[in-house]
Amino acid sequence: MDHYAFGSDNVAGICPEAWRAMEAANSGDASPYGSDTHTARVCDRVREIFETDCDVYFVFNGTAANSLAITSICQSYHAVICHAKSHLQTDECGAPEFFTRGAKLITCAGDLAKLTPEAVLSAASKRRDLHFSKPRALSLTQATEFGTIYQPDEIAALAAVARSSGLKIHMDGARFANAAASLAATPAEITWKSGVDVITFGGTKLGGGIGDAVVFFDRELAHEFDYRCKQAGQLASKMRFITAAWEGLLDGDTWLQIAHRANQHARDLAAGLREIDGVEILFPVEANAVFARFSPAIDAALQKAGWHYYSLAGIGDSRLMCSWRTTKDDVDAFLTSARQASAHSA
Ligand SMILES: *Cc1c(COP(=O)(O)O)cnc(C)c1O
Repeated sequence: MDHYAFGSDNVAGICPEAWRAMEAANSGDASPYGSDTHTARVCDRVREIFETDCDVYFVFNGTAANSLAITSICQSYHAVICHAKSHLQTDECGAPEFFTRGAKLITCAGDLAKLTPEAVLSAASKRRDLHFSKPRALSLTQATEFGTIYQPDEIAALAAVARSSGLKIHMDGARFANAAASLAATPAEITWKSGVDVITFGGTKLGGGIGDAVVFFDRELAHEFDYRCKQAGQLASKMRFITAAWEGLLDGDTWLQIAHRANQHARDLAAGLREIDGVEILFPVEANAVFARFSPAIDAALQKAGWHYYSLAGIGDSRLMCSWRTTKDDVDAFLTSARQASAHSA
């Protein structure tokens, strides 16, 4: 039997809602480069969801969305304050530095992959002389790389420090839907109403195929952003297939339902694993990620049984992600394997 792959939420394919919308868009001709009706409609839908007149762009992936969003804030001599575990710092091959032609990433530590106002203030004020890159942006990941979430008051507190330090706020929302589904606050409240200037709104991991959005709440930052996208090779000629998929995701509250389901599966998975000897859950499960520490014997048995998840070799720390495709049966089957592995290794 082929097990569900818990390795990442991008191992799943395209969800039926996005797939059907793409198929429906595949009839007749449409204007290229984003001047089609799907793109116009979905941009309006994004404005509706965020309850504000924001500027919306679509690029091929999250690395481009993050990096280009940062270029809209930073000159080459500026610096971005971000978490040491942020995707920006650890998983973008220097793309933010490349696209800004030199902006520096200043990383901060912080429990649960979250930045604190104290850490940001310290990073922003340590060096203010001409000989060091000038802090200009704060980048927050929501949900974080550890599957935790910034509460609205935490975002507001970070925003207050950012404002007083002259920093614009970028939010890496590769899993923004999971955060929005988990919080009892509106998308507006956890973004621009809390001080976020630009967000990378991820659709790929949620269930789209290709294409993440860059949404500017501070519309001055969007000045000539279309040129940045085009020059970076991030303007899709047949844009309608990216934006039609997004229409499928954003139709009604499909996006929140998908995210809510994935979050629920992650919580159930963690709850089951907590009961098993030899398994430790490392972080609060607030979105669709479970970080677990398996005993070496359990880890080996799970791998042998054909389960896929990210494993930090030797340490036993593992990441399991739930997606639109995860089912209750997948969660139950994994828990059964983990229980058996634990019993055999006892
Ligand atoms: C996946 C991810 C991205 C985007 O990555 P791409 O592979 O470039 O699409 C950005 N930020 C975070 C936190 C992610 O998990």
